Amino acid sequence: MGYYEFNIEAPDESRDALINMAHESGSLGVVETQRYLLIYYADHQGIKKLINDFASFKAILKDSGLPHDFSFVYVYLSERDWNESWKKKFQPIDVGENLSIIPPWEKSRSGRISLIIDPGMAFGTGHHITTKTCLELIERLTQEGLEEHFLDVGTGTGILSIGAAKLGFREVVGVDIDPLAIDAAKRNISLNGLINVKILEGTISVTEGTYDLIVANLMSEILIAIAPEIASRLKDKGIVLLSGMIIGQEDEVIAAMGKEGIMFRERYYDDIRWVSLVLTR
Ligand code: SAH
Repeated sequence: MGYYEFNIEAPDESRDALINMAHESGSLGVVETQRYLLIYYADHQGIKKLINDFASFKAILKDSGLPHDFSFVYVYLSERDWNESWKKKFQPIDVGENLSIIPPWEKSRSGRISLIIDPGMAFGTGHHITTKTCLELIERLTQEGLEEHFLDVGTGTGILSIGAAKLGFREVVGVDIDPLAIDAAKRNISLNGLINVKILEGTISVTEGTYDLIVANLMSEILIAIAPEIASRLKDKGIVLLSGMIIGQEDEVIAAMGKEGIMFRERYYDDIRWVSLVLTR
């Protein structure tokens, strides 16, 4: 089998839509860099179809009012080139004080807690800045003594759930609406040998009970929509960590959470684009 690597230079505002489109069109994975999106496909998809998919996606972006003038180039990768190219892009990365995200083919780093993540199909390889911020904040919150029940809304590869379990949370639940994410998360959880992480398919409404820490790294529209459910799943003195908002969108999220009695505590800016919030009841 061979692969195609599409290298896309897209305006920031259209990136999320393109990443979604990549998942929906059956891509094997997406690598986001400062400047490019690299999207990988198995060659059996057929290059003509893939080129058509990208070309027609411009019209969809245009209809949604998003910048649609992205350019793309692609290369064919043989099995061997693929392994080299893919693996090179997933070097271990250290996050926070004690964590290290490593792909399954790398050795763990001494002195650090390994989160083994197979950068297969779902979002959340730890290379995205909001994922890193969430992990750093989860680490800090565990140092403040949080450790019982953790809920991860939109778990993707399961990375935040895995982080929480390895940082000492006793019971961890991750949910996701995407069946591919569910498969990836379950695989990663078993790669990490964890038995206290439960993965459920669906929205936050499939969960039960209450949690000490709820984390959601999602678009602001979704965060606002699920604010009441987040509130109903939060323990009395629980903490909510929200990420994935673009700078400027956070006040609406803070207001939506405020209506549910969950108050703003801290705000973090990553580079020039993303905001994360810590809130508490
Ligand atoms: N938590 C991971 C992944 C975040 S990407 C990380 O921080 O890196 C967001 C994930 O949320 C995707 O896997 C997507 O399928 C899922 N998702 C989107 N809307 C959702 C919703 N309403 N409920 C649950 N999961 C959702």
